[in-house]
Amino acid sequence: MKEIEAQYASERLAQLKSEYQVDVLADWGKGDSSNGGSWQLGSWAGDELDRLHDWIAVLAESIGGKDRVCQFLGGVTVQKTDIGSHAGEALAHKVSFAKNGSISAWTVIHEFSHAWDANYDWKLSRLIEKYTGGFTSPFLSHIKRSLGLWDAGPQGKENKPGRNGRKPGCNAAGYFYGDKPGGSDWNFNRKEDFAEAVAMYVGWEKNNALSDHANKRIIRYEKLKNGEKDGFGVADNWEDYAKYFYPEAGDYAKTKRWQFVDDLVNGKLGIT
Ligand SMILES: [Zn+2]
Repeated sequence: MKEIEAQYASERLAQLKSEYQVDVLADWGKGDSSNGGSWQLGSWAGDELDRLHDWIAVLAESIGGKDRVCQFLGGVTVQKTDIGSHAGEALAHKVSFAKNGSISAWTVIHEFSHAWDANYDWKLSRLIEKYTGGFTSPFLSHIKRSLGLWDAGPQGKENKPGRNGRKPGCNAAGYFYGDKPGGSDWNFNRKEDFAEAVAMYVGWEKNNALSDHANKRIIRYEKLKNGEKDGFGVADNWEDYAKYFYPEAGDYAKTKRWQFVDDLVNGKLGIT
């Protein structure tokens, strides 16, 4: 953030606060005596606050308005900090993005969804697991592993086609997802499932900042041969995986996950 952009940024901060109860911790500004009072750029780019605001607005639009963001998340503090190799992390009322990167629409919605789930004591991810017919069993996962009935190496995922740990139960958590998620990998569990389901719901068949990403998640199963790279540059055996992920008629809105998020935001699950 350059000094010349700071005035505009402070207006954006006020808007994020008043519309969505989102507090961005400003790490830019005039330095103190320790650095001779020179301007500190911090880790946010000048236009990043605009994008953050736009993407939260996209979330709001998908879930029924600005008030819902406030209601569901209960206020969030956002910061950029050193979080290792992750793009983002979230707890109740707190979202962190990687200091040395720029935020993406998908990551913003994904992390805000974790904060939403956390604000309900992670009940939403337990509900989506149940709603979609999944379960978590490290024991059964271990059995699958010992029988070699899985798509990863003995120690976990390997970065090559057919070895990324995408099949049900073939992940670190022993998460046997039900129905058809938009994707799954070694880190998949019920919490990631909820966050990804919200992001897919927000983007699917709309014309917003998440729609291209959501579409790429699905079309790889209808267009690609085994070993080809998908829209994210990942080579995998997409033909083989189609039966686990490709929704009826290629329409993600026909999946239980889409229905779950739709029911949730429309108050049909008895959660307010
Ligand atoms: Zn996540």
